[in-house]
Amino acid sequence: MHESETIYVDNNATTAIAPEVLAAMQPYFTSDYFNPSSMYAAARSSSEAIETARRTIARCLGGIEPDQLLFTGSATESNNAALFGTVQANPERRHVITTAVEHPSVLEIGKELERRGLDVTFLPVNRNGELVINAFVRALRKDTMLVSIMMANNETGVCYPIAELARIAKETDPQIVVHSDATQALGKLPVDLRVTLQHVDLLAFSGHKIHAPKGVGALFVRRGTRWRPFILGGHQEKGRRAGTENVPYIVGLARACELAVAGVEEEQGRIRTLRDRLQNALLERIPALEVNGKDAAERLPNTLNLAVHGIEGEAMLYELSRHGICASSGSACTSGSLDPSHVLKAMQVPFTAIHGSLRISLSRYNSDADIDRIIEILPVIVARLRKLSPYWDDERDCLKI
Ligand code: PMP
Repeated sequence: MHESETIYVDNNATTAIAPEVLAAMQPYFTSDYFNPSSMYAAARSSSEAIETARRTIARCLGGIEPDQLLFTGSATESNNAALFGTVQANPERRHVITTAVEHPSVLEIGKELERRGLDVTFLPVNRNGELVINAFVRALRKDTMLVSIMMANNETGVCYPIAELARIAKETDPQIVVHSDATQALGKLPVDLRVTLQHVDLLAFSGHKIHAPKGVGALFVRRGTRWRPFILGGHQEKGRRAGTENVPYIVGLARACELAVAGVEEEQGRIRTLRDRLQNALLERIPALEVNGKDAAERLPNTLNLAVHGIEGEAMLYELSRHGICASSGSACTSGSLDPSHVLKAMQVPFTAIHGSLRISLSRYNSDADIDRIIEILPVIVARLRKLSPYWDDERDCLKI
Protein backbone atom coordinates (compact mmCIF):
# COMPACT_ATOMS: atom_id res chain seq x y z
CA MET A 1 0.00 0.00 0.00
CA HIS A 2 1.28 3.45 -0.89
CA GLU A 3 2.41 5.49 2.10
CA SER A 4 0.13 8.42 1.26
CA GLU A 5 -2.88 6.14 1.71
CA THR A 6 -2.06 5.47 5.35
CA ILE A 7 -4.50 6.88 7.88
CA TYR A 8 -2.67 7.18 11.17
CA VAL A 9 -5.00 7.22 14.16
CA ASP A 10 -2.73 5.77 16.84
CA ASN A 11 -1.46 9.05 18.25
CA ASN A 12 -1.63 7.95 21.88
CA ALA A 13 1.05 5.40 20.95
CA THR A 14 3.27 7.91 19.21
CA THR A 15 3.01 10.90 16.89
CA ALA A 16 4.59 12.06 13.67
CA ILE A 17 7.46 14.51 14.15
CA ALA A 18 6.27 18.03 13.29
CA PRO A 19 8.26 19.66 10.45
CA GLU A 20 8.89 22.68 12.71
CA VAL A 21 10.39 20.36 15.34
CA LEU A 22 12.65 18.65 12.82
CA ALA A 23 13.85 22.03 11.54
CA ALA A 24 14.63 23.25 15.06
CA MET A 25 16.64 20.09 15.81
CA GLN A 26 18.62 20.01 12.56
CA PRO A 27 21.58 22.29 13.49
CA TYR A 28 22.28 20.27 16.63
CA PHE A 29 22.87 17.13 14.56
CA THR A 30 25.25 18.86 12.18
CA SER A 31 27.10 22.09 12.98
CA ASP A 32 26.39 22.34 16.72
CA TYR A 33 27.26 18.81 17.76
CA PHE A 34 29.45 19.73 20.75
CA ASN A 35 29.24 18.33 24.23
CA PRO A 36 27.39 21.01 26.18
CA SER A 37 29.75 20.49 29.14
CA SER A 38 32.88 21.31 27.12
CA MET A 39 34.73 24.50 28.00
CA TYR A 40 35.57 25.92 24.56
CA ALA A 41 33.48 28.67 23.03
CA ALA A 42 32.13 26.48 20.21
CA ALA A 43 30.23 24.33 22.73
CA ARG A 44 28.43 27.30 24.18
CA SER A 45 25.64 27.18 21.61
CA SER A 46 24.84 23.61 22.75
CA SER A 47 24.62 24.49 26.43
CA GLU A 48 22.68 27.65 25.65
CA ALA A 49 20.23 25.66 23.52
CA ILE A 50 19.46 23.44 26.52
CA GLU A 51 18.81 26.41 28.78
CA THR A 52 16.65 28.12 26.14
CA ALA A 53 14.65 24.89 25.80
CA ARG A 54 14.23 24.71 29.57
CA ARG A 55 12.90 28.29 29.67
CA THR A 56 10.53 27.62 26.79
CA ILE A 57 9.04 24.54 28.43
CA ALA A 58 8.82 26.34 31.79
CA ARG A 59 6.71 29.02 30.06
CA CYS A 60 4.49 26.34 28.49
CA LEU A 61 3.80 24.85 31.92
CA GLY A 62 2.34 28.03 33.38
CA GLY A 63 5.45 30.14 33.86
CA ILE A 64 7.38 28.12 36.44
CA GLU A 65 11.04 28.63 37.35
CA PRO A 66 12.98 26.76 34.63
CA ASP A 67 15.49 25.12 36.97
CA GLN A 68 12.70 22.86 38.27
CA LEU A 69 12.74 20.94 34.98
CA LEU A 70 15.05 18.01 34.26
CA PHE A 71 15.47 16.45 30.85
CA THR A 72 15.26 12.67 30.68
CA GLY A 73 15.28 9.94 28.05
CA SER A 74 11.52 9.20 28.18
CA ALA A 75 8.41 9.48 30.28
CA THR A 76 9.18 5.96 31.49
CA GLU A 77 12.48 7.27 32.90
CA SER A 78 10.73 10.33 34.35
CA ASN A 79 8.20 8.10 36.13
CA ASN A 80 10.97 5.84 37.45
CA ALA A 81 12.91 8.87 38.68
CA ALA A 82 9.78 10.34 40.29
CA LEU A 83 8.78 7.20 42.18
CA PHE A 84 12.15 5.73 43.13
CA GLY A 85 13.57 9.20 43.86
CA THR A 86 10.72 9.88 46.29
CA VAL A 87 11.05 6.49 47.97
CA GLN A 88 14.80 7.07 48.48
CA ALA A 89 14.19 10.48 50.04
CA ASN A 90 11.45 9.36 52.45
CA PRO A 91 12.72 6.20 54.17
CA GLU A 92 10.63 6.80 57.31
CA ARG A 93 7.37 6.42 55.37
CA ARG A 94 6.15 3.23 53.73
CA HIS A 95 2.82 3.87 51.99
CA VAL A 96 2.25 4.78 48.34
CA ILE A 97 -1.06 5.50 46.60
CA THR A 98 -1.51 5.00 42.87
CA THR A 99 -4.28 3.65 40.63
CA ALA A 100 -5.08 0.37 38.94
CA VAL A 101 -5.13 2.09 35.53
CA GLU A 102 -1.67 3.69 35.38
CA HIS A 103 0.68 3.19 32.46
CA PRO A 104 3.02 0.23 33.11
CA SER A 105 5.86 2.68 33.81
CA VAL A 106 4.07 3.55 37.07
CA LEU A 107 2.07 0.37 37.67
CA GLU A 108 5.08 -1.95 37.50
CA ILE A 109 7.02 0.29 39.88
CA GLY A 110 4.10 0.08 42.29
CA LYS A 111 4.32 -3.72 42.16
CA GLU A 112 8.10 -3.58 42.59
CA LEU A 113 7.74 -1.32 45.64
CA GLU A 114 5.35 -3.88 47.12
CA ARG A 115 7.96 -6.61 46.56
CA ARG A 116 10.44 -4.40 48.41
CA GLY A 117 8.12 -4.32 51.43
CA LEU A 118 6.25 -1.03 50.99
CA ASP A 119 2.44 -0.81 51.18
CA VAL A 120 0.94 0.24 47.88
CA THR A 121 -2.73 1.09 47.38
CA PHE A 122 -3.90 0.65 43.78
CA LEU A 123 -7.12 2.69 43.71
CA PRO A 124 -9.92 1.07 41.72
CA VAL A 125 -11.98 2.87 39.07
CA ASN A 126 -15.69 2.57 38.27
CA ARG A 127 -17.29 1.25 35.07
CA ASN A 128 -16.56 4.59 33.38
CA GLY A 129 -12.91 4.51 34.37
CA GLU A 130 -13.35 7.27 36.95
CA LEU A 131 -11.71 7.38 40.37
CA VAL A 132 -13.92 7.73 43.41
CA ILE A 133 -12.61 10.70 45.37
CA ASN A 134 -13.86 9.33 48.70
CA ALA A 135 -11.85 6.16 48.13
CA PHE A 136 -8.77 8.34 47.63
CA VAL A 137 -9.46 10.27 50.84
CA ARG A 138 -9.95 7.01 52.76
CA ALA A 139 -6.68 5.61 51.39
CA LEU A 140 -4.54 8.46 52.79
CA ARG A 141 -2.55 7.33 55.84
CA LYS A 142 -0.23 8.89 58.38
CA ASP A 143 2.71 7.19 56.68
CA THR A 144 1.69 7.96 53.09
CA MET A 145 4.79 9.30 51.34
CA LEU A 146 3.68 9.45 47.72
CA VAL A 147 0.59 9.81 45.57
CA SER A 148 1.12 8.99 41.87
CA ILE A 149 -1.93 9.45 39.65
CA MET A 150 -1.93 10.06 35.91
CA MET A 151 -3.58 13.19 34.46
CA ALA A 152 -5.19 11.27 31.61
CA ASN A 153 -5.36 7.63 30.68
CA ASN A 154 -3.57 6.52 27.53
CA GLU A 155 -6.09 3.78 26.66
CA THR A 156 -9.43 5.44 27.33
CA GLY A 157 -8.55 9.14 27.50
CA VAL A 158 -10.36 9.42 30.85
CA CYS A 159 -8.97 12.42 32.78
CA TYR A 160 -8.37 12.46 36.51
CA PRO A 161 -8.95 15.48 38.81
CA ILE A 162 -5.29 15.89 39.71
CA ALA A 163 -5.56 19.48 40.95
CA GLU A 164 -8.24 18.45 43.45
CA LEU A 165 -6.54 15.22 44.52
CA ALA A 166 -3.23 17.05 45.03
CA ARG A 167 -4.94 19.74 47.12
CA ILE A 168 -6.63 17.09 49.29
CA ALA A 169 -3.33 15.25 49.78
CA LYS A 170 -1.47 18.43 50.76
CA GLU A 171 -4.24 19.62 53.10
CA THR A 172 -4.18 16.22 54.79
CA ASP A 173 -0.38 16.21 55.11
CA PRO A 174 1.94 18.72 53.39
CA GLN A 175 4.77 16.18 53.50
CA ILE A 176 3.06 13.85 51.01
CA VAL A 177 4.78 14.05 47.63
CA VAL A 178 2.33 14.28 44.71
CA HIS A 179 3.40 12.99 41.30
CA SER A 180 1.41 12.96 38.08
CA ASP A 181 2.16 11.27 34.78
CA ALA A 182 1.06 13.95 32.30
CA THR A 183 2.34 12.14 29.22
CA GLN A 184 -1.06 11.98 27.52
CA ALA A 185 -2.37 15.25 28.93
CA LEU A 186 0.31 17.67 27.76
CA GLY A 187 -0.76 19.40 24.58
CA LYS A 188 -4.33 18.12 24.95
CA LEU A 189 -5.27 19.79 28.23
CA PRO A 190 -3.90 22.93 29.90
CA VAL A 191 -1.04 22.02 32.25
CA ASP A 192 -0.40 24.94 34.59
CA LEU A 193 2.01 24.08 37.39
CA ARG A 194 1.93 27.58 38.86
CA VAL A 195 -1.81 27.98 39.43
CA THR A 196 -4.14 24.98 38.89
CA LEU A 197 -1.52 22.33 39.59
CA GLN A 198 0.24 24.28 42.34
CA HIS A 199 0.07 21.28 44.70
CA VAL A 200 1.69 18.86 42.26
CA ASP A 201 5.36 18.27 43.18
CA LEU A 202 6.50 16.02 40.33
CA LEU A 203 5.21 15.81 36.77
CA ALA A 204 6.39 13.54 33.95
CA PHE A 205 5.97 13.83 30.20
CA SER A 206 7.41 12.66 26.92
CA GLY A 207 8.37 14.12 23.54
CA HIS A 208 6.92 11.55 21.20
CA LYS A 209 3.29 12.10 22.18
CA ILE A 210 3.48 15.76 21.12
CA HIS A 211 5.23 15.49 17.74
CA ALA A 212 8.83 15.47 19.04
CA PRO A 213 11.02 12.35 18.72
CA LYS A 214 10.91 9.21 20.83
CA GLY A 215 13.63 9.02 23.46
CA VAL A 216 13.28 12.37 25.17
CA GLY A 217 11.18 13.35 28.16
CA ALA A 218 11.21 15.63 31.15
CA LEU A 219 10.49 15.60 34.85
CA PHE A 220 9.30 18.63 36.80
CA VAL A 221 10.57 18.61 40.39
CA ARG A 222 9.11 21.43 42.45
CA ARG A 223 11.69 23.22 44.56
CA GLY A 224 11.74 21.84 48.11
CA THR A 225 10.29 18.43 47.18
CA ARG A 226 11.63 15.51 49.23
CA TRP A 227 13.14 13.74 46.24
CA ARG A 228 16.58 12.37 45.37
CA PRO A 229 18.22 11.94 41.97
CA PHE A 230 17.65 8.56 40.40
CA ILE A 231 20.32 8.38 37.69
CA LEU A 232 23.74 9.04 39.14
CA GLY A 233 27.00 9.80 37.35
CA GLY A 234 28.19 13.09 35.87
CA HIS A 235 27.22 16.55 37.00
CA GLN A 236 24.73 17.21 34.17
CA GLU A 237 21.36 18.76 35.07
CA LYS A 238 23.00 20.04 38.29
CA GLY A 239 23.64 16.46 39.39
CA ARG A 240 19.94 15.56 39.22
CA ARG A 241 20.09 13.46 36.04
CA ALA A 242 23.47 12.25 34.92
CA GLY A 243 24.37 11.55 31.29
CA THR A 244 25.42 13.75 28.39
CA GLU A 245 22.41 15.76 27.33
CA ASN A 246 20.62 14.86 24.09
CA VAL A 247 20.79 18.41 22.75
CA PRO A 248 18.84 18.05 19.47
CA TYR A 249 16.05 16.10 21.16
CA ILE A 250 15.81 18.56 24.03
CA VAL A 251 15.54 21.40 21.48
CA GLY A 252 12.87 19.36 19.65
CA LEU A 253 10.94 18.76 22.86
CA ALA A 254 10.82 22.50 23.56
CA ARG A 255 9.68 23.37 20.04
CA ALA A 256 6.99 20.66 20.21
CA CYS A 257 5.79 21.98 23.59
CA GLU A 258 5.54 25.48 22.16
CA LEU A 259 3.47 24.28 19.21
CA ALA A 260 1.25 22.06 21.33
CA VAL A 261 0.54 24.60 24.02
CA ALA A 262 0.11 27.60 21.69
CA GLY A 263 -2.78 25.96 19.88
CA VAL A 264 -4.15 23.87 22.71
CA GLU A 265 -7.70 25.25 22.78
CA GLU A 266 -8.34 25.85 19.11
CA GLU A 267 -6.53 22.78 17.87
CA GLN A 268 -7.98 20.45 20.47
CA GLY A 269 -11.44 21.89 19.72
CA ARG A 270 -11.02 20.89 16.09
CA ILE A 271 -9.77 17.43 17.08
CA ARG A 272 -12.70 17.01 19.50
CA THR A 273 -15.14 17.82 16.69
CA LEU A 274 -13.56 15.13 14.49
CA ARG A 275 -13.58 12.61 17.33
CA ASP A 276 -17.21 13.32 18.26
CA ARG A 277 -18.35 12.99 14.66
CA LEU A 278 -16.55 9.65 14.40
CA GLN A 279 -17.98 8.44 17.71
CA ASN A 280 -21.57 9.36 16.84
CA ALA A 281 -21.42 7.90 13.35
CA LEU A 282 -19.96 4.59 14.57
CA LEU A 283 -22.49 4.30 17.40
CA GLU A 284 -25.23 4.80 14.84
CA ARG A 285 -23.89 2.27 12.34
CA ILE A 286 -22.54 -0.55 14.53
CA PRO A 287 -24.88 -2.49 16.84
CA ALA A 288 -23.68 -3.55 20.32
CA LEU A 289 -20.99 -0.89 20.37
CA GLU A 290 -20.05 1.01 23.51
CA VAL A 291 -17.55 3.73 24.29
CA ASN A 292 -15.21 2.75 27.11
CA GLY A 293 -15.15 5.71 29.48
CA LYS A 294 -18.10 7.33 27.72
CA ASP A 295 -19.76 9.05 30.63
CA ALA A 296 -16.53 10.08 32.31
CA ALA A 297 -16.81 13.75 33.20
CA GLU A 298 -13.96 14.48 30.87
CA ARG A 299 -12.06 12.55 28.27
CA LEU A 300 -9.10 13.64 26.19
CA PRO A 301 -10.52 15.29 23.06
CA ASN A 302 -8.55 13.03 20.71
CA THR A 303 -9.31 9.59 22.17
CA LEU A 304 -12.04 7.10 21.33
CA ASN A 305 -11.90 3.65 22.94
CA LEU A 306 -14.61 1.38 21.61
CA ALA A 307 -15.94 -1.84 23.10
CA VAL A 308 -16.93 -3.90 20.08
CA HIS A 309 -18.83 -6.82 21.57
CA GLY A 310 -18.33 -10.29 20.16
CA ILE A 311 -15.05 -9.99 18.23
CA GLU A 312 -11.30 -9.90 18.78
CA GLY A 313 -9.59 -6.52 18.73
CA GLU A 314 -6.58 -8.00 16.95
CA ALA A 315 -8.72 -9.23 14.05
CA MET A 316 -10.17 -5.72 13.67
CA LEU A 317 -6.69 -4.19 13.73
CA TYR A 318 -5.49 -6.58 11.06
CA GLU A 319 -8.45 -5.75 8.83
CA LEU A 320 -8.08 -2.03 9.41
CA SER A 321 -4.39 -2.29 8.63
CA ARG A 322 -5.22 -3.99 5.31
CA HIS A 323 -7.13 -0.81 4.49
CA GLY A 324 -4.20 1.39 5.53
CA ILE A 325 -5.72 2.42 8.86
CA CYS A 326 -3.34 2.33 11.83
CA ALA A 327 -5.19 2.04 15.15
CA SER A 328 -4.62 -0.03 18.27
CA SER A 329 -6.42 -2.34 20.61
CA GLY A 330 -6.62 -1.91 24.33
CA SER A 331 -5.11 -5.32 24.93
CA ALA A 332 -1.42 -6.07 25.11
CA CYS A 333 -0.23 -9.08 23.19
CA THR A 334 2.21 -10.99 25.33
CA SER A 335 4.17 -13.90 23.88
CA GLY A 336 1.34 -15.06 21.68
CA SER A 337 -1.31 -15.16 24.41
CA LEU A 338 -3.78 -12.32 24.52
CA ASP A 339 -3.88 -10.63 27.88
CA PRO A 340 -6.81 -8.26 28.30
CA SER A 341 -5.88 -4.67 29.10
CA HIS A 342 -5.44 -3.98 32.82
CA VAL A 343 -7.30 -0.70 32.30
CA LEU A 344 -10.39 -2.34 30.80
CA LYS A 345 -10.24 -5.10 33.41
CA ALA A 346 -10.20 -2.47 36.16
CA MET A 347 -13.26 -0.88 34.49
CA GLN A 348 -15.00 -4.27 34.49
CA VAL A 349 -15.63 -4.24 30.77
CA PRO A 350 -17.72 -7.41 30.10
CA PHE A 351 -15.96 -10.47 28.70
CA THR A 352 -17.73 -10.19 25.32
CA ALA A 353 -15.96 -6.85 24.77
CA ILE A 354 -12.73 -6.96 26.77
CA HIS A 355 -10.88 -8.59 23.87
CA GLY A 356 -12.75 -6.49 21.34
CA SER A 357 -11.58 -3.03 22.23
CA LEU A 358 -10.35 -0.60 19.64
CA ARG A 359 -8.53 2.63 20.39
CA ILE A 360 -8.60 5.42 17.87
CA SER A 361 -6.48 8.44 18.83
CA LEU A 362 -6.28 11.52 16.63
CA SER A 363 -3.78 14.34 16.19
CA ARG A 364 -3.58 17.73 14.49
CA TYR A 365 -2.66 15.93 11.26
CA ASN A 366 -5.97 14.06 10.93
CA SER A 367 -8.56 15.36 8.49
CA ASP A 368 -12.28 15.07 7.84
CA ALA A 369 -11.44 12.67 5.02
CA ASP A 370 -9.68 10.33 7.50
CA ILE A 371 -12.81 10.25 9.64
CA ASP A 372 -15.05 9.62 6.60
CA ARG A 373 -12.87 6.69 5.60
CA ILE A 374 -13.03 5.06 9.05
CA ILE A 375 -16.81 5.58 9.16
CA GLU A 376 -17.03 3.82 5.80
CA ILE A 377 -14.72 0.89 6.55
CA LEU A 378 -15.12 -0.05 10.22
CA PRO A 379 -18.82 -1.05 10.20
CA VAL A 380 -18.14 -3.36 7.24
CA ILE A 381 -15.18 -4.97 9.02
CA VAL A 382 -17.14 -5.44 12.26
CA ALA A 383 -20.12 -7.00 10.43
CA ARG A 384 -17.83 -9.41 8.58
CA LEU A 385 -15.96 -10.51 11.72
CA ARG A 386 -19.16 -10.93 13.70
CA LYS A 387 -20.39 -13.45 11.16
CA LEU A 388 -17.55 -15.68 12.42
CA SER A 389 -18.14 -14.99 16.11
CA PRO A 390 -19.68 -17.66 18.37
CA TYR A 391 -21.17 -14.84 20.47
CA TRP A 392 -23.02 -13.15 17.62
CA ASP A 393 -26.57 -13.96 16.50
CA ASP A 394 -26.42 -13.22 12.80
CA GLU A 395 -30.13 -13.41 12.17
CA ARG A 396 -31.15 -11.00 14.90
CA ASP A 397 -27.94 -8.93 14.56
CA CYS A 398 -27.24 -8.85 18.26
CA LEU A 399 -25.18 -10.61 20.93
CA LYS A 400 -26.33 -14.15 21.77
CA ILE A 401 -25.66 -13.61 25.48
N1 PMP B 1 2.83 7.30 30.52
C1 PMP B 1 1.81 7.30 29.66
C2 PMP B 1 0.45 7.70 30.14
C3 PMP B 1 2.02 6.92 28.33
O1 PMP B 1 0.99 6.91 27.47
C4 PMP B 1 3.32 6.56 27.93
C5 PMP B 1 3.59 6.12 26.50
N2 PMP B 1 2.74 5.12 26.03
C6 PMP B 1 4.35 6.59 28.87
C7 PMP B 1 4.07 6.98 30.15
C8 PMP B 1 5.75 6.20 28.50
O2 PMP B 1 6.33 7.16 27.67
P1 PMP B 1 7.72 6.85 26.94
O3 PMP B 1 7.39 6.08 25.72
O4 PMP B 1 8.29 8.21 26.63
O5 PMP B 1 8.57 6.12 27.89
